[in-house]
Amino acid sequence: MTNIMEKIVSLCKRRGILFQSSEIYGGINACYDYGPLGVELKRNVNQYWWETMVHQREDIVGLDAAILMHPKVWEASGHVESFTDPLVDCRICKQRFREDEIDPKKLEKKQCPHCGNKDSLTEARQFNLMFRTHMGPVEEAASTIYLRPETAQGIYVNYKNVMDSSRKKIPFGIAQIGKAFRNEITPGNFIFRTREFEQMEMQYFVKPGDDDAVFQQWREERLTWYVNLGIRKEKLRFHQHGKDELAHYAKVAYDIQYEFPFGWKELEGIHNRTDYDLSRHQQYAGKDLSYFDDTSRERYIPYIIETSAGLDRTVLTCIVDAYEEENLEKETRIVLHLDPKVAPIKAAVFPLVNRDGMDELARKIFEQLKNQFNVFYDDSGAVGRRYRRQDEAGTPFCITIDSQTLKDETVTIRDRDTMEQDRVSKDILITELDKRIWGNTQ
Ligand code: ATP
Repeated sequence: MTNIMEKIVSLCKRRGILFQSSEIYGGINACYDYGPLGVELKRNVNQYWWETMVHQREDIVGLDAAILMHPKVWEASGHVESFTDPLVDCRICKQRFREDEIDPKKLEKKQCPHCGNKDSLTEARQFNLMFRTHMGPVEEAASTIYLRPETAQGIYVNYKNVMDSSRKKIPFGIAQIGKAFRNEITPGNFIFRTREFEQMEMQYFVKPGDDDAVFQQWREERLTWYVNLGIRKEKLRFHQHGKDELAHYAKVAYDIQYEFPFGWKELEGIHNRTDYDLSRHQQYAGKDLSYFDDTSRERYIPYIIETSAGLDRTVLTCIVDAYEEENLEKETRIVLHLDPKVAPIKAAVFPLVNRDGMDELARKIFEQLKNQFNVFYDDSGAVGRRYRRQDEAGTPFCITIDSQTLKDETVTIRDRDTMEQDRVSKDILITELDKRIWGNTQ
């Protein structure tokens, strides 16, 4: 991991954004817990996706399917047979590797990339990435079930239910945010690749023939979404899957990539999945999943355009993109330039000193603001230190109550990015914050 990633991991722990899971027991590999600031950040990203992908669209509805599904779902989807990576073990040092990640020269000699011993690697075996468990008390084959490795299948198997109950007509989409689990052989890069993660997926059902145009629209829309989330445009790009990368069901696929400190990596996949998924479920479940178009009087299996994003990966992107060590005259300030709409705390309220009634007035202002925004009250230490603590937490605004406030009821609002302070009447604080956070000018 590069130096910058180490600093980010340390900031996340120090400020309560992310902790290693079960840390007091030495931790468990590739699992993380969101702390008090992290949970707010993650919820804000989740909510922004839901608002833009569901609430602001008449053609998309939401779903929250169970993690545990009928085992036949994963046979139909192809996951039981082919959701695998080639795994090799070293007989000497017991390390495990993905065969496709080992240097071919070493692989030829069966040389372990870790301990260097030749002829020490086992033959590759296909390792299925799905976590398996048992339903009910008897551990027999019939009761084997899986923790879902993607949320998409919950959408496909519910497509008729959703369509019939919401009276949607094609084209329309179903969106879902939820946990997915993959027993990754080589997880890493902090929360970039973990074994338990959340996906934000939307499956858009279209008439065959309309799929190419709809695919192009979604490709552009999804890139714009990250820009609107505050991610720098020059750090985002598309990567088209070549023939060797393309999944067997996909007609065309693009990844949206972000330039992380460890390289350009996938943030989201946009796939034209054709009629593969619904056809397979129709075959395996023995249920008719075709659609009757009453305008054209045609019957067909819809094509699916999928936009599949990782919530945790998006959170990591927000943090990485926002992180700055800014050299000031006498010090270095660490600041997270998070977009105000995803920032965990929207504003902090400070009395300059805890006397002369400044603290009571500051408390009163805090009580008013907390009905509208996630705000934070801090009265400990020098005000400069308090500003720095909020800079690290990504809080976009700090409101200070000082001796002037006692005279004319004005307060200062300090902007995290410019560090400039404006003086405004305490009575317009809610409108002012609304405007600055949401761009709301009414
Ligand atoms: P990769 O090639 O990185 O393993 P993938 O192509 O298998 O990813 P998809 O199945 O397309 O990924 O999943 C869609 C999205 O889910 C990814 O773009 C990513 O944001 C997220 N995702 C997938 N696997 C993980 C993981 N192990 N940890 C965190 N997020 C993940």
